[in-house]
Amino acid sequence: MKFKMVVLFVSAALLIAAAGACKKQEDASGTSAIKKADVLKVGVKADVPGFGLFNTSANRYEGLEIEIAKRLAGEILGDSGKIKFEPVTAKTRGPLLDNGELDMIIATFTITDERKLTYNFSTPYYTDAVGMLVKKSSGINSLADLDGKTIGVAQSATSKEAIDTAAKAIGVTLKFAEFSTYPEIKAALDSGRVDVFSVDKSILNGYLDGDSVILPDEFSPQPYGVTTKLSNKALAEYVDGLIQKWLGDGTIPALIEQFHL
Ligand code: GLU
Repeated sequence: MKFKMVVLFVSAALLIAAAGACKKQEDASGTSAIKKADVLKVGVKADVPGFGLFNTSANRYEGLEIEIAKRLAGEILGDSGKIKFEPVTAKTRGPLLDNGELDMIIATFTITDERKLTYNFSTPYYTDAVGMLVKKSSGINSLADLDGKTIGVAQSATSKEAIDTAAKAIGVTLKFAEFSTYPEIKAALDSGRVDVFSVDKSILNGYLDGDSVILPDEFSPQPYGVTTKLSNKALAEYVDGLIQKWLGDGTIPALIEQFHL
């Protein structure tokens, strides 16, 4: 009797372990929730030409990051059209990933050591740098001309620290004004409230007009990674494997060329 009980317990334990292993194997790519929803929810930029831009006349998103998202949906769901794009900003993208509204962010999200403590990032698919947009009439030509000037930066962006470090290194002292969106910084530049609009050059391109110019100076490399929730390590590894594959087989380099990046 005692022996039978032990056999029963051991068998039960083995069964539970086997079921667990099975479940784990089923979701080795961390994609079960996405598959269940049958749609990939991706946070993208709507105002970054060549990366994530909403083309209002065609009524669709376009750019490198959009193409990467479509390919990921194709791999995970077997259909690159099973995707829901959600426009995000530097301020909103993290919270939207945290609260589960989005499965991933592909939105000029710079990989930093600090952010790696909160999110998983893939290998970079592109590396940009922080730049400066000024009014042509300002007479500002470089960082050296900025002593005492006010720089408009976005909250939650890497820009403030990047430009401040570069300025301090050449003995230039800056003032800052922080905004929650890029259109607000551009409006502040136009009205003279700030002297410089500073963020990644790729983003500045979306706000360049006839009266403004992007200066040649650039600071602090900005490697962009596909961002996923820290808790889903399997998904991060799966996505990273695909990004590495697409970097190696020429898929991403071809897209970078296609979008003239
Ligand atoms: N790429 C920079 C960052 O992640 C600039 C902000 C943005 O992406 O909008 O902080």
